[in-house]
Amino acid sequence: MPAVYDMLSRMKAKVDAGRSILYQTARYVDIYKALDDISRERKLTPEERAEQKKYTRLADAFTPLAKGMNSEYANQNAYDAIQIHGGSGFIMEYKSQRLYRDARIFSIYEGTTQLQVVAAIRYITNGTYLTMMKEMLETEVAEELRPLKVRVEEMVKRYEQSINYVKESGSQEVNDLLARRLYDMTAEIIMSLLILDDATRAPELFTKSAHVYIRMAEEDVLGKSAFVTRFIAEDLKYYRQMPIE
Ligand SMILES: Cc1cc2nc3c(=O)[nH]c(=O)nc-3n(C[C@H](O)[C@H](O)[C@H](O)COP(=O)(O)OP(=O)(O)OC[C@H]3O[C@@H](n4cnc5c(N)ncnc54)[C@H](O)[C@@H]3O)c2cc1C
Repeated sequence: MPAVYDMLSRMKAKVDAGRSILYQTARYVDIYKALDDISRERKLTPEERAEQKKYTRLADAFTPLAKGMNSEYANQNAYDAIQIHGGSGFIMEYKSQRLYRDARIFSIYEGTTQLQVVAAIRYITNGTYLTMMKEMLETEVAEELRPLKVRVEEMVKRYEQSINYVKESGSQEVNDLLARRLYDMTAEIIMSLLILDDATRAPELFTKSAHVYIRMAEEDVLGKSAFVTRFIAEDLKYYRQMPIE
C-alpha cells in the first residue's frame, strides 16, 4: 500500500513542519512581549531595545506564514483523512467528516490565506525571509541530514532567482498574480530548515518527517520557481476575467 504510506507520511510531515513554525513564531512573540512588559516598568537598555525591535519584526514576518500554512495544512489533512477512510470517512459515524467541516473555516477567519499573503509579501520582496534562510543555512545539521540540506540550499537559490525575476518584471499585476506562489515557496523553505533543525536535535522524532517534508517542499518549490520565472506580462491575458483582445 505505498500510496497510503505516501499520504500518511505527508500528513505527518505537514503536522510536524507546521508545529515547528508555530512554535518558532510563538517564541518570537513571547520574547518581544516580555520586552514590551519590561519596558512598561523601566527604560530598556540599548541592547534590549535592539532585541525588542528584532523580535517584533521576526514575529511580524513569521505570523502570516504560521497562520496561513497551518490552516491550509489542516484542510489538506482533513481531506486526506476522509480519503484514507474511503466511504466510511464521509459518513456521520466517523469523526473525519466533522474535522473536514471544522477545518474549512481556519483558512478564512482571523485573516484569509490571501490576506496572509498580503501581510507576507513585503518581507518577500524586501529580502527579509531570504536573509533569514541564509542565516538558518549556517546552522550545522546532523551528518546524515547533510544531503537534505544541500537540497534546501538549491531551493533557496531558485527562490532568490524567482524573487529577483518578479521584482525585475516591474508590473504590479504580475507581482500580485505570483505572490501566492512566492509565499508558498517561502513558507516551505523555512519549514524545511526548521524541520532539519528538529531532526538534528531529536532524530528519533523528526528524521522521517524531515525526509518526507523536504522532498515534498522540493517538488513544490521547483515547480513554482519554473512557473514564476517563465511567466511574462503578456500571459496575464489568460488569467484576466475578460475576453482576450
Ligand atoms: C464562523 C465564523 C466566525 C467568525 N468569528 C469572528 C469573530 O469572532 N470576530 C470577527 O471580527 N470576525 C469573525 N468572523 C469574520 C471573519 O473574520 C471574516 O469572515 C474573514 O475575515 C473574511 O472576511 P469576509 O468574510 O468579509 O470575506 P472577504 O474579505 O469579502 O473575502 C472574500 C474573498 O476575497 C479575498 N480577499 C479579500 N481581500 C483581499 C485582498 N486584499 N487580496 C486578495 N484577496 C482578498 C479573500 O481571501 C476571500 O477569498 C467570523 C466568520 C465566521 C464564518
